[in-house]
Amino acid sequence: MTNGKDNDQFTNNQLSKKKDRRDRLYHFFGYWLLSVCLVIGIWSLIILFFAPFLFRLNSARMWPMSTPFLPTTGAEVKDRGWHDLDVVLVTGDAYVDHPSYGAAVIGRVLQAAGFRVGIIAQPDFRTTRDFSRLGRPRLFFGVTAGNMDSMVANYTAHKRPRLNDDYSPGGRPGLRPDHAAVVYANRAREAFRDVPIVLGGIEASLRRFAHYDWWKNEVRRSILLDSRADILVYGMGETQVLEIARRLAAGENLHGIRGTAVTAGSRVQGFTGSRLEEARSRGQEAGDDVPGIGDHGGSDIIKIPSYEEVREDIDKFNEAFRTIVENQDPFTGRTLAQGHANRYVLQYPPALPLETKDLDAVYELPYVRGWHPSYNGEGGVPGFETVRFSIISHRGCPGECSFCGLSLHQGRIVSSRSESSILNEAQALTRRKDFRGTITDVGGPTANLYGAVCGRWQGKGACGNRHCLTPTPCRNLKPGYEKGLSLYGKLHALPGVKHVFIESGFRHDLLVDPKARGYLERICKDHLSGRMKVAPEHSSDRVLDIMNKPSFSVYEQFSALYRSICRKLGKDQHLVSYFISAHPGCTLEDSLSLALRLGELGIHPEQIQDFMPLPMTLSGTVYHTGKDPFTEKEVYVPRSFRERKMHRALIQHKNPKNTPLVREALKLLKKQHLFPKLMPGRKTA
Ligand code: SF4
Repeated sequence: MTNGKDNDQFTNNQLSKKKDRRDRLYHFFGYWLLSVCLVIGIWSLIILFFAPFLFRLNSARMWPMSTPFLPTTGAEVKDRGWHDLDVVLVTGDAYVDHPSYGAAVIGRVLQAAGFRVGIIAQPDFRTTRDFSRLGRPRLFFGVTAGNMDSMVANYTAHKRPRLNDDYSPGGRPGLRPDHAAVVYANRAREAFRDVPIVLGGIEASLRRFAHYDWWKNEVRRSILLDSRADILVYGMGETQVLEIARRLAAGENLHGIRGTAVTAGSRVQGFTGSRLEEARSRGQEAGDDVPGIGDHGGSDIIKIPSYEEVREDIDKFNEAFRTIVENQDPFTGRTLAQGHANRYVLQYPPALPLETKDLDAVYELPYVRGWHPSYNGEGGVPGFETVRFSIISHRGCPGECSFCGLSLHQGRIVSSRSESSILNEAQALTRRKDFRGTITDVGGPTANLYGAVCGRWQGKGACGNRHCLTPTPCRNLKPGYEKGLSLYGKLHALPGVKHVFIESGFRHDLLVDPKARGYLERICKDHLSGRMKVAPEHSSDRVLDIMNKPSFSVYEQFSALYRSICRKLGKDQHLVSYFISAHPGCTLEDSLSLALRLGELGIHPEQIQDFMPLPMTLSGTVYHTGKDPFTEKEVYVPRSFRERKMHRALIQHKNPKNTPLVREALKLLKKQHLFPKLMPGRKTA
């Protein structure tokens, strides 16, 4: 029995020991597993915490363009692993990374050349805080008022503040100061005293010499002096800006760069006012050997009347304007000098137009084609919507309309992109999630001049003794209709593209040519979104002559042709016709004639633009001086706001709100008997 008990006890002990061993083993593995999990967990947390920093740092080193927009804050600069930037661009527009926005183009061009670029868009101009946001740029600040002159952006044609700004987030007005380029340049100078400042954009371009400022009704000095900038880029600025960046990086001076203006006696070395004076005292106002003219072989300088002279004397103002226009061509233009007190503004000859391959390269840069995400809360930037699915096909305009600054800014010579480059851009558009199948525009300053050429343009430059399109189109101008139609057809054939529309304005004087019939019919058939835009501007041939536009009879001919083509095609398409009221040369009688003529034609125009004299345009000059600078004949100029309102009211006489103004205008003209004709059913007095 005892043995049996002992055996049982032995067996129990054995079992208990086994169980203990098993429990210890389980505990060991349990703790081991727990430890492993803890270690993995802790490392995971550490990695999760530091991963964004490690990844960003690494990616910034390897791919500086990994963030799609150019940096706009100090943090974004650091995210790229950079300590500083080479160039900081300051713009009066919201930051929209699209080739229609000048600051975006310049930013991308510099970036593609290897420079580190940041953008400060619409900074608070009351302090220097925003201007310091990206730190001190190594090379320069590039300053632009934006895509428009800031005074045009801020004020209506009646000098009232605008209620919205399409180039600002949410269309909010007031985000850019008046004379923005001057204000921004001075703030940048306050923030970093020794950093060079480069001015560019249309505001700088059209105010580079002493100019008439309609908003202040005064002749102002060159913007170079008010802004205290080191150099001004005029016209389209890609080549100039690249050359400026290259020279500053190499420690070279900024003399003699085509398409730029500088002040002599400023921080630019080796080219002083006294040297110029010396040349003049030797009786050499042209043909003098002045250092720094660069590739402008003749190195000759033409002196134009000084700021002090043009401010006091309208004939001197006209003389200066004439000489500026005569030297506007990149192939024949010479260096101009204008005195401002004891200094000079020197303008080097215009930049050569970009060749097709260079133009392609500019438009093929990696634009995001969108507004900066910081504007999402305000619904984005309204101005972007018109270009969201559009493609720029060419630049330059041989039209030379007197009221427009475009031919002064882009030049008369047309440069067109290659078909393959445009097709590549279109293909990229079709890959966007928001693309619904419509390319809204393929155009430039004038839609039907894509591919246009003249034998003189490359090498000799545009004619100085005649216009390309007026009084009738020059026989040597070859519009590129076949090229255009081939392009539109190929765009239409791309997978995902349902429509290719041309929304840019057309030159109707070119389209009345029987040789253009096939082109016009195809455009009307396949490439209009229900309307074609043209700009007859007025019905008086005398006024049209001052505007440098073709005769009204050409518009009437075109209008009839367009309607008959659309009728034949069974298409109900409108002709949107733009008119300008109160242009220099236009009397109340002329506006009444326009109103009556349009009434006879059954046209009731909504697109009336009140004339606004832009700096350095021919019309702006005539407005200021009251004379045509080329013929020196006196020109009537409607100046008072009351009269300007009457001009518009006569043209828009169908609007009942205009009744008192129409009455007043007819009374002044002693033509009250026409009131019932203009405003049937309304009381004459
Ligand atoms: S030849 Fe005719 S198209 Fe050519 S630049 Fe002269 S005016 Fe213009």
